[in-house]
Amino acid sequence: MQHDSRETRSLRRTVSGLPKDSGMRILIIEDEQKLAEILLRSLRGEGFTVDVTATAEDGFHWAVEDHYDLVILDLLLPDGSGTDLLRRLRQRQHKVPVLVLTARGDLETKVENFEAGADDYLTKPFALPELMVRVRALMRRGPAIKDTVLRLADLEVDRLSRQVRRAGKRVELSPKEYSLLEYLLLNAGRVLSRSMIIDRVWDQSFEGFTNIVDVYVRQLRRKIDEGFDPKLIRTVRGLGYSIDPEHTG
Ligand code: CA
Repeated sequence: MQHDSRETRSLRRTVSGLPKDSGMRILIIEDEQKLAEILLRSLRGEGFTVDVTATAEDGFHWAVEDHYDLVILDLLLPDGSGTDLLRRLRQRQHKVPVLVLTARGDLETKVENFEAGADDYLTKPFALPELMVRVRALMRRGPAIKDTVLRLADLEVDRLSRQVRRAGKRVELSPKEYSLLEYLLLNAGRVLSRSMIIDRVWDQSFEGFTNIVDVYVRQLRRKIDEGFDPKLIRTVRGLGYSIDPEHTG
């Protein structure tokens, strides 16, 4: 199978450049030309940047080398199976959302593809509006997956497993302590007031005293700062707290 050159692809992108580009990129791997064209037109009409290929080989390489926000994948391709392509992607820890689009609607095939790493599945023939809402739903989910580990100095927080390490050592936090630390880290360098912290870490209906924050910050400090350097949690008198490695006591 002929490998499409990068030049051809960039040309295709330029020619089809859209005024209302959303910045989101979609790869369509589909050998049914008519369908591929309809998808291309519709998705571009929605402001997405779209590439199309008809082969599993190109599809795999493009998906790995380029940063797509979504892959739309047909299962029966002239040079291989979409399911195998999907497995290869996931074996490489590639997390791009994949929407499988196929005429095969049997349960067994669906299960097989979800197990291979599909995020969604749509059976042909389908209604375009349904495809669009699914595409949008998948794209909303996509970016959140990218930053799973937050790091500051030698502190590491894995947002998927909720594991915390300082200097490589596992730190056990309660759910509230974890939420507090995550909120501080997501806003590293910014001062967060006690009421901001309460709104975010406790729920809106919390009616207790704002000094609950001081209590939790003290516990968190004991776990992630005591015995380590630099100290990461900073008290900003009269304002609140922030986390950053720059402060000096
Ligand atoms: Ca096909």
